[in-house]
Amino acid sequence: MPGARVWAVVKADAYGHGLHNAVPAFAAADGLALVEIDRAVLLRELGWRKPILLMEGMFDRTDLAAVRDYDLETVVHCDEQIALIAEARDASIRVHLKVNSGMNRLGFRPARVPEVFARLKALPAVTNVSLLTHFANAENPAATLTPALQMQQFMACAAGLEAEISVSNSAALMMADPPLRCDWIRPGVVLYGGVPGNGSPQPYGLKPAMTLRSELIAVQDLQRGDCVGYGSLFCAEAPMRIGVVACGYADGYPRHAPSGTPVLVDGVRTRVLGRVSMDMLSVDLTPVPAARIGSSVTLWGDGLPIDEVAEAAGTIGYELMCAIAPRVRREVKEGPGA
Ligand SMILES: *Cc1c(COP(=O)(O)O)cnc(C)c1O
Repeated sequence: MPGARVWAVVKADAYGHGLHNAVPAFAAADGLALVEIDRAVLLRELGWRKPILLMEGMFDRTDLAAVRDYDLETVVHCDEQIALIAEARDASIRVHLKVNSGMNRLGFRPARVPEVFARLKALPAVTNVSLLTHFANAENPAATLTPALQMQQFMACAAGLEAEISVSNSAALMMADPPLRCDWIRPGVVLYGGVPGNGSPQPYGLKPAMTLRSELIAVQDLQRGDCVGYGSLFCAEAPMRIGVVACGYADGYPRHAPSGTPVLVDGVRTRVLGRVSMDMLSVDLTPVPAARIGSSVTLWGDGLPIDEVAEAAGTIGYELMCAIAPRVRREVKEGPGA
């Protein structure tokens, strides 16, 4: 996206990676975008001085003080938010008018945009008005509501308005023919090495920012007919060794990951067996005969794309990243390419 400035999207604690990691990691971004107002304040406390965008805007009157005191830019997607900004005194707020170009989640319908734009411009607390919209189907070429169609809607109502525009999530940036004209882009998941939508296998050579690791804490020798874990969902058809991993749904590993979900033991690819429990899950050690208690286990990340695990579990990498639980110990590797 030549010439476009970048809002690095850091909602949901930087997709589970931690805002304190995101601030130094995204030093080259032009701004940070998120939805949580208390987290936006934290970004300032962590030393972020460049723009911060609230992508859902203000939720109630108390948010106005934070927007003013911490110099936050805010989306306006409904009349109620305009009313809030109209109450603002001693503030200079940069607002971003959200256009509903077909997704029907947030925003004003295109027909209303010129009027809303003029109203915002006329408010004493408003110093600048930009326009933004969001794509519903950039990762799905077969969709009827294409980014091109949404862009057409969006640009038609933006015509003649003196405003910067912001479009393009990760999926739109990865399209063969991305919608080009925009001043700002808003990538999220690709910045963390994830594939937008349900996109395994990983076609872009992205490196994972996050690796979820644990260890084997037990090994069991099963006889034919022995079953594993809650519900006895997996039963051995022949003698086999299994490993028990200290990682479960209370760590953020998806409980609905079925037998067969990929996992690495000592770097060797194998599979989850039976039901994931709160603190543990079981894995097949057949391809890793040397594995023992203490062997390293990669649930996703380095050597195992999160999107593959997500696909097996019927979800997307985003959900797995965001769901990493507080009890998981975080280690940060310093330096570029670490
Ligand atoms: C989350 C979000 C993004 C980033 O989406 P990705 O698919 O992670 O790139 C961009 N814009 C808005 C409004 C969002 O809510």
